[in-house]
Amino acid sequence: MSVYDVVVIGGGPGGYNAAIRAGQLGLKVACVEGRETLGGTCLNVGCMPSKALLHASELYESALGGEFASLGIEVKPQLNLAQMMKQKDESVAALTKGVEFLFRKNKVDWIKGWGRLDGAGRVRVTAADGSEAELQAKHIVIATGSEPTAAARNGYR
Ligand SMILES: Cc1cc2nc3c(=O)[nH]c(=O)nc-3n(C[C@H](O)[C@H](O)[C@H](O)COP(=O)(O)OP(=O)(O)OC[C@H]3O[C@@H](n4cnc5c(N)ncnc54)[C@H](O)[C@@H]3O)c2cc1C
Repeated sequence: MSVYDVVVIGGGPGGYNAAIRAGQLGLKVACVEGRETLGGTCLNVGCMPSKALLHASELYESALGGEFASLGIEVKPQLNLAQMMKQKDESVAALTKGVEFLFRKNKVDWIKGWGRLDGAGRVRVTAADGSEAELQAKHIVIATGSEPTAAARNGYR
């Protein structure tokens, strides 16, 4: 069984910041994340990808006859949705890799799998392949975010 000062469950903005700070303070720390990548809702499907797509959409709208035309710039923009999505995916990948880098830099162990409390000071982690690991921690931080009940029922993450 691996023993830690702090185990953080959830690798979103709440969890990864707590884990990195604990590492910076010299604590032995692990962060359990069930998604394939770190960064939680914000980096993977929320704030960052939505803002990347909003930014591109606003530029498209400006070029389509909005602000560009009023400034005397006449262009005929063509929407390349595949490229827009690729650029968004590349931004997301760079950001989630950035959190991975910060974990390595601050000696945070990234434990891949879904965690659950398994008694006082114990977290049981189930990996994607069904294997299980038990972590022992002096302190446990629950930073699992939230999701709509309908999505949770359907197993969507
Ligand atoms: C479309 C959209 C746009 C948004 N835009 C903005 C914005 O512009 N600005 C802003 O401030 N906020 C925005 N938000 C809100 C923001 O994403 C959330 O406030 C933020 O992600 C919450 O962070 P968190 O760490 O609490 O939870 P989350 O980001 O949800 O992270 C929790 C993590 O815990 C993991 N997890 C859950 N249970 C377990 C478990 N048992 N074991 C292991 N891992 C687990 C999840 O997989 C997830 O990765 C937006 C949200 C959405 C959906």
